[in-house]
Amino acid sequence: MSTLRAGPIDVHHLGFERFVGVYLLDTDEGLALFDCGPGIALDGLRAGLAEHGLGLDDVDHLLLSHIHLDHAGAAGAIVRENPRIQVHVSEVGAPHLVDPAKLEASARRLYGDAFDSLWGELVPVPEGNVRVVGDEVLGLECFPSPGHASHHVSYLDGEGTLYSGDAAGVRLTPSRFVLPPLPPPEVDLEAWERTIQEMEHRSPSRLALVHFGVFEDVEAHLDRLRGTMHRWSEWVGHGMDEETFAAAVHADVAASDPDDVDNYLTIVPAWHGFRGLERYWRKRHEASTGA
Ligand SMILES: [Zn+2]
Repeated sequence: MSTLRAGPIDVHHLGFERFVGVYLLDTDEGLALFDCGPGIALDGLRAGLAEHGLGLDDVDHLLLSHIHLDHAGAAGAIVRENPRIQVHVSEVGAPHLVDPAKLEASARRLYGDAFDSLWGELVPVPEGNVRVVGDEVLGLECFPSPGHASHHVSYLDGEGTLYSGDAAGVRLTPSRFVLPPLPPPEVDLEAWERTIQEMEHRSPSRLALVHFGVFEDVEAHLDRLRGTMHRWSEWVGHGMDEETFAAAVHADVAASDPDDVDNYLTIVPAWHGFRGLERYWRKRHEASTGA
């Protein structure tokens, strides 16, 4: 049976606390990491593992939720250091680990000159280390969880811990607000609603979020994710401009967790959500008019 040994292990991305946390699992096939953070935070991951008396040498597997750089950017550098590690990823994500050129180009378009200082080096993962996930991986149930990203998968362990990547939103422990990360270009709210239902259907005991923490009020958490996602989507769908959206998002988070609003909006800037939703609505409109 696979179980959570430790986490979230804070990799202190860009020096921030509670930005990116990864999880350490005991599985029948050795020690596994769930997500690994960006390349630039690899020293932070090493330091976090060292606090548990471990190093990358002790890790056998890397389970990835999706290939966004804050979750998977360090994968290639980790395998370069320990070529024994098998990297588990969705079928759509796999080729982008082997050849990250397109992924890097699209992230550079989004982040511009800040790319290098935000994310660091993207090292290709050798094809021989990549394993495409099925319904079961290392004794965990694995299921597609699109919405935030179309290739996103989540993992459920034998004790009911759901490793949800970004699919259950962003919530910075000990705060309550559940923020839907809605970056362009793949946001799909219908798919995300189905993903939330898939999660509810499995009645997990707790949610392990990369951003950031383990939460046991699963039902209320997913309800809040759903509510906020639809509320923000309506705002953009009804033509709200970016500045007004950013102010409304700020007020929304502040109403729940005034002390943490800046941290939330550093980790998931409001413009991500605005652009992601704008694109989502444009695609919907084009689909309905055949344009
Ligand atoms: Zn993501």
